[in-house]
Amino acid sequence: MNSYLKCVNQKCGKEYPILSTDFKCSCGNLLDVKYKNSPSSNLKEVFYKRRNPEGSIFNESGVWRFRELLNFCEIDTEDLEQCSKNLVSLDGSEGRQSKPYHMSKVASFVGIDNERLMLQPEGYNPSGSFKDNGMSAAVTHAKMVNAKKIICASTGNTSASAGMFAANENMECDVYIPEGEISPGKLSQAYQFGTQMIHVKGTFDDAFVKSLNASKESGSYTVNSINPFRIEGQKTIPYRALEFLNWEVPDWIVYPGGALGNTSSCGKCIMELYEWGWIKKIPRIAVINAEGANTLDVLYNGKFEDTELRWNKGDPNVELIDQYYSKMNDDGIRPQTKATAIQIGKPANLLKGLRALEFTDGVVTSVTDNEMLDGMSIVGLNGFDCEMASGAVPAGVKKLMGEEIIKKDDTVIGILTGRQKEPLLPIEYHNNISNKFARPPKE
Ligand SMILES: [Zn+2]
Repeated sequence: MNSYLKCVNQKCGKEYPILSTDFKCSCGNLLDVKYKNSPSSNLKEVFYKRRNPEGSIFNESGVWRFRELLNFCEIDTEDLEQCSKNLVSLDGSEGRQSKPYHMSKVASFVGIDNERLMLQPEGYNPSGSFKDNGMSAAVTHAKMVNAKKIICASTGNTSASAGMFAANENMECDVYIPEGEISPGKLSQAYQFGTQMIHVKGTFDDAFVKSLNASKESGSYTVNSINPFRIEGQKTIPYRALEFLNWEVPDWIVYPGGALGNTSSCGKCIMELYEWGWIKKIPRIAVINAEGANTLDVLYNGKFEDTELRWNKGDPNVELIDQYYSKMNDDGIRPQTKATAIQIGKPANLLKGLRALEFTDGVVTSVTDNEMLDGMSIVGLNGFDCEMASGAVPAGVKKLMGEEIIKKDDTVIGILTGRQKEPLLPIEYHNNISNKFARPPKE
């Protein structure tokens, strides 16, 4: 086999067969999907040609257009029959509309030349967020292992994406939610796609643990972000951005920071492309936390115990993480932000995220809820729709430019992770005259 799973902890490095569905190593760390071959850079031409899809949904798909770079099914990628049999796609729509755009009002808001900033709206995916990139890959793996039911704990975008693909593939989908803590509005898409809600007494973390236990039952399969195949699918987000730039690497790629799946997948994407000789320069990743859910900012920037947490060439200070999580529990610190998509206190992909930051000389910062709302609104004033968490990107670029970390002559790609799913947020924002971009209604 060309592909296999491998523990991210370099001291362990244990390998597992690609058909394994236990996504934690016996040492407790997460796993990576690895490939033995190095894809030829001649594929750049193939990918470009597929932008004229010639009737194939797998060329239309912004995920499967790059299928040679995540070919864990090990199919003949030019054989459309094999593609149809193996690859999960919502008729080619995942990633199809996502590419970077210039948004002049955002550029002038953050203080950079319009030519130097591009934003890529991943909200224009079929379920309305970047999750469809990773979910199409994870559900492809679920089919490979003959799973009958996919399982997640989620309060929004993940359950919508999982429910959509499950419905389309005629699979069952169970969504674990903490009873009474989630507003029905956030789950409406999951209901719409016919998922089975399972109420759990306790917090989101309790629901997550229950969902993981349930996924150990025969025929069940977890699609939460510990699933390494989701990370594979999400690599196509930077592939599309880089392809649009003719594989000329920008100085910065900027993401909102939640569970750090995107940071991890961007890092893996860049590490692989560099190793394969497809790119000569390494872009820097900037991760923008919400101030109220800033675990990465605290740990990475030495705001806890005066110690900067680093990947440290595969030997991170995990005791520091445990100490901080205990302190969070002891002090009753709960993630608190209106940007629900990144309201996460214990990022599931923290170690993979640290690895990405180390490889790319990345930076981490935090922005306030008001700054995110301004960011969300200025994107809207360019005619693009995004959720509040995505507003962290313009807000974070503005802050990092103010600190002269991002320089005026740098080139920047920002990822807008999801579409607006909370209709009251823009209404409240624009009705409050004290907000920077408010356009309140007239009598
Ligand atoms: Zn291990």
